[in-house]
Amino acid sequence: MTGPAALAGRPVVAGAGLAGLATALLMDRPCVVLSPAPLAADAASTLAQGGIAAAIGPDDTPALHARDTLAAGAGLCDPAAVEAITRAAPDAIAALAGLGAVFDRRPDGTPDLHLEAAHSRPRIAHAHGDGTGAEIMRALVARVRATPRITVLDHAALRRVIVADGQVAGVLAERAGGTVAIPTAACVIATGGVGALFPTTTSPPGGLGSGLACAARAGATLRDMEFVQFHPTALDATPPARGAGAAPRVLVSEAVRGAGAVLVDETGDRFTDELAPRDVVARAIQAHLAAGHRVFLDARAATHGHFARHFPGIARACLAHGIDPDRDPIPVRPAAHYHMGGIETDLRGRTSVPGLWACGEAASTGLHGANRLASNSLLEAFVCGGFVARDLDATSLPVPRPLPARDTPQPQAADPADVRLLVGRAAGILRTADGLRRAARALAPHVPHDDQALVGALLCLTALERRESRGGHYRTDYPDTAPDAVTGRITLARALPALAALAPVPFLLEH
Ligand SMILES: Cc1cc2nc3c(=O)[nH]c(=O)nc-3n(C[C@H](O)[C@H](O)[C@H](O)COP(=O)(O)OP(=O)(O)OC[C@H]3O[C@@H](n4cnc5c(N)ncnc54)[C@H](O)[C@@H]3O)c2cc1C
Repeated sequence: MTGPAALAGRPVVAGAGLAGLATALLMDRPCVVLSPAPLAADAASTLAQGGIAAAIGPDDTPALHARDTLAAGAGLCDPAAVEAITRAAPDAIAALAGLGAVFDRRPDGTPDLHLEAAHSRPRIAHAHGDGTGAEIMRALVARVRATPRITVLDHAALRRVIVADGQVAGVLAERAGGTVAIPTAACVIATGGVGALFPTTTSPPGGLGSGLACAARAGATLRDMEFVQFHPTALDATPPARGAGAAPRVLVSEAVRGAGAVLVDETGDRFTDELAPRDVVARAIQAHLAAGHRVFLDARAATHGHFARHFPGIARACLAHGIDPDRDPIPVRPAAHYHMGGIETDLRGRTSVPGLWACGEAASTGLHGANRLASNSLLEAFVCGGFVARDLDATSLPVPRPLPARDTPQPQAADPADVRLLVGRAAGILRTADGLRRAARALAPHVPHDDQALVGALLCLTALERRESRGGHYRTDYPDTAPDAVTGRITLARALPALAALAPVPFLLEH
């Protein structure tokens, strides 16, 4: 185990997507960023196509943006978080532009704003058409590289947050060549979502929820874990195999349906309303696939032979699979896309563990509730990265003591492919008590030492406990929405006995 003494005492930001890089850039303190891959690679932020939502149009206000966000969240948003984040959105666009991100403009120089499903006003800012995330990340990565105050440890992944006397005391990170121990009183978890725990996903392979597992093992409260958004239209073509993770499916953005593309089956028949909410369209497609059909998004009439002009990135990806959207209907299927739940934070990004912050998709601020309004997540990642940065600058951090010698975390015990199969079958678009219980029972024995099994088990357990359908969570055995909207919270201390009661053989109740 090596201990880079020079880094001791600096806040450690785990994750190099938009949330992590915004946190590092917007704070004044010297800090460390852990990035398992080269900066921006393996980040969902880089893949974001549709854009970033902000009320900057002439007929728009943050209050209208907040109203749409609350409606999408199906009763489980935290109104204070919605108000704070939508209010901060116009300044966020200006700040991103100040950091070098170039957004699309109309010929008269005003921002080119787009309308997306469930937004009542055109408020989605794009960059390079469908390359918004890549452009934002290009700009932020360049800034990070030019900022000597930020030390990037690449090929380093957070494995454990060490807590001593009720406060963060350090982190253990895994790097080629061993484990790095950094004594610090501040850790920010910005490790993104959990899509890679599902067999079919648009998320990068690193989206395994490992930051959620570290937070749970450190004692943090997780919220809304059962709420996963399935995107209805991922490209239904075999993704290339990539390492141990589930390879991401190419997303065929909502904007394509917004432009008039229709969903048809192999007979050319339409079978659903393309502009219904994401969860409704995803369930309709899933049911049609289950009935033996294939499903296609037909953009031929909508884009009049100019698909690539409107959607250059999607066109490139389709052509790479031999599909020409100007001639061919695009084969699609739903895929796990976004995790509304995560580590519970307040509006400073603080978790329930002193010294532990979280932001971005790994966090649950209460912005999304049971369902995310499209294009609100890039916004949340940047705005809440800023909230964390400001709070860290305003907080006096105790000088960390050298970390006691401790065991290196054990290697993952469960096969990630098995975890994906279990989680995908049980906690996919359609859920039942039987399926969820079976998956939780199979994952339970691996929970003490396996982070993916832990996150999968927490997801199944919380989905089992929510005996209703709401937002991204659909139970075929409880298809109705309960009259009261109740936020679900879980800690490892509460989950372990519940999982032990389900497990077929006793397992060690320690973590
Ligand atoms: C295909 C696609 C399209 C999307 N389109 C849009 C859109 O148009 N608009 C929108 O608002 N949202 C969109 N989203 C969602 C949005 O991109 C994400 O929610 C957001 O970018 C999350 O940012 P983040 O920084 O929290 O996570 P990410 O960008 O995923 O970054 C997470 C980082 O954490 C790292 N990491 C993982 N585990 C560890 C670990 N153990 N230790 C250290 N680092 C770790 C990863 O390598 C990565 O660098 C899209 C998502 C996908 C997948």
